[in-house]
Amino acid sequence: MSNALLLVSALKSGYGAVEVLRGVDLEVHTGETVALLGSNGAGKTTLNLTLSGLVPTRGGQVRFDGLDITGWHYRRVVGQGLIHVPEGRKVFPNLSVHENLELGAFTRGRAHRAENLGKVYDIFPRLKERTAQLAGTLSGGEQQMLAIGRGLMAEPRLLILDEPSLGLSPLLVEEMFSLIGRLKAEGLAVLLVEQNVGQSLEIADRAYVLENGDIRFSGLPADLLASDTLRQAYLGM
Ligand code: ATP
Repeated sequence: MSNALLLVSALKSGYGAVEVLRGVDLEVHTGETVALLGSNGAGKTTLNLTLSGLVPTRGGQVRFDGLDITGWHYRRVVGQGLIHVPEGRKVFPNLSVHENLELGAFTRGRAHRAENLGKVYDIFPRLKERTAQLAGTLSGGEQQMLAIGRGLMAEPRLLILDEPSLGLSPLLVEEMFSLIGRLKAEGLAVLLVEQNVGQSLEIADRAYVLENGDIRFSGLPADLLASDTLRQAYLGM
């Protein structure tokens, strides 16, 4: 059996009569950064929500560190250290930066809350300066930092980042990718969902392309970039 940290086999899910994921196979190993690419509507967010226990599984299996977590309630999934930073930031607008971060440690990471808060403020000094500010009044980039900081408070073993660079200025996109590089250097496993194909493939160890709920490519970023056919078909490059 594979010793992957996350091992997804033949995963199916959807909404009502709509089948979105049609049998997804994917794995992430300890310390790996894996890019998940695909056009709008391919099913990337649905995959993340299904892995996190927020959308019910309709078939297949999800294993995390050898444990079958298929169909688990999201709080139990978080408890294992599979942490999802959702698309669109989703911070609590009427709570302060500090309170948002504290909530990140609600289910997991409570014992080291103070220490982890220090680490998050070290990574994001801008959040430290704004600790008492209401999250809803932060800029888009700051809210994205807060969403990631909140995820880090839960001591992730695998961090799923859904479109972290979406809507950010070019400078902040650079900052975001350098942050991902830092997390990678610290040995954190990251599943990175991105529209920013070039930079994602630069940082990723491996990549998947999802189209219409199916994995169409899985392999090394260099192989994806080297093939004109694959690039044109799936990356629009
Ligand atoms: P994007 O990059 O645009 O966010 P995506 O790859 O993340 O796209 P999903 O958001 O997973 O794609 O959507 C996949 C399909 O599922 C789409 O056809 C979408 O319309 C549909 N879908 C998503 N959420 C729901 C929902 N709550 N109810 C019904 N259909 C949904």
